[in-house]
This record gives sequence, structure tokens and C-alpha cells, in this order.
Amino acid sequence: MEINVLAKNDAIARDNRAWLRRRDVLALNLMSSPGSGKTTLLERTLSQLPGPVAVIEGDQETSLDASRIRRTGAPVVQVNTGAGCHLDASLVASALSSLAPPPGSVVFVENVGNLVCPAMFDLGERRKVVVISVTEGTDKPLKYPYMFAAADLVIVNKIDLLPYVDFDVDLCAKHARSVNPDLTVLPLSATTGAGLDAWYAWIAAQ
Ligand code: MG
Ligand code: ZN
Repeated sequence: MEINVLAKNDAIARDNRAWLRRRDVLALNLMSSPGSGKTTLLERTLSQLPGPVAVIEGDQETSLDASRIRRTGAPVVQVNTGAGCHLDASLVASALSSLAPPPGSVVFVENVGNLVCPAMFDLGERRKVVVISVTEGTDKPLKYPYMFAAADLVIVNKIDLLPYVDFDVDLCAKHARSVNPDLTVLPLSATTGAGLDAWYAWIAAQ
């Protein structure tokens, strides 16, 4: 059954990818545990990028994060998954058609906070970004290797809290590269803005 579900998802993801390419839209899939700071990072990022932006907000319930994003002025669609614990390609397909992003847009997909099954569901995005924060364990990449193996970029958020927590950025990066040697790791703070220039440069390079 799982193989069937994933095969169906992959077919829709391929359609999404073709749709995005035809429209010259860059889609980034942001994944993390709950509370890593994805929405805060997006609030800050949306106001800094030069071109058109849009957001697909995935949460099990509520439109709280979409309301936060809407206040930045960016177009946003909230997708509630109910009992579901990840976004899939068909949910993203409907969200994309209602957003109708103009050519040259960057669409951020904020996945449901979960480091397990979002790794298995291709949404048709160009890149997968994993956000972890220094309030989590340094060993997260070893505990959730599928997520880190699937990722293109790892953001280590909340570095402003490093003096108060037991988190080793270099060791975490080493763990992440042990499951995926090609990973780019960017330490930053969405609150203070430290490291954000490297994030914007990474987006521009995609
Ligand atoms: Mg959020
Ligand atoms: Zn799930």
C-alpha cells in the first residue's frame, strides 16, 4: 500500500515540477520539527527578497501561521491536513493553482512540523530545506537520517541562543554530512538576522 501511495504521489509531483518549470517558478520545501522557527524565518525572508513570493502553509489545524504570513503582504494559502502529518503532491497542486504565482516567483512550502514522513513525499519542489534549531539535539541528523539524506540544505536556526544551550553546530554539521556528504549547512538566526545574507544568496543561486 505504501509503495502504491508513493508512486501515485510521485506522478503528481512530476506534474507539479513540470508546471513550475513552465512558469519559471522556484519552489522550496521547508521541513522541520514543530517549533524550529520556519514561520519566523519566512516572515523575515519574504520582505527581503526582490522578486514576487508566495507561501503554501501546511499545518494539521488552524490558519495561525498563514495569518502571520499574510501580514507580510505575501500571497498565502493555508492547507490543513487534519489527521495527516505531511503535505503531499496533490495538496500542493491545488494550492499552486489557487496561488497562480507569476513567472520568476519563489514559492515557499512550509511543510507540517515533522521530520519523518515529509521526507518521503516529493511535492515537485526544486529543493528541500531542513530547518533545525539549536534548542534541539545535536544528534538530530543521526536520529532522522532519511530527512537529512533527502535534503539539499540544512538551516541551523536560533544561533542567538547558542550561549544558553548545549548544542555543537560543527558536530551537527558533521552528523548531517555523514548521511549526506553534499549538504550545505547554514547557521543563522531568524530573530537577529545573523547569517541571513547567506540564506538569501543560496535562494538566489537556485
Ligand atoms: Mg510554522
Ligand atoms: Zn505523514
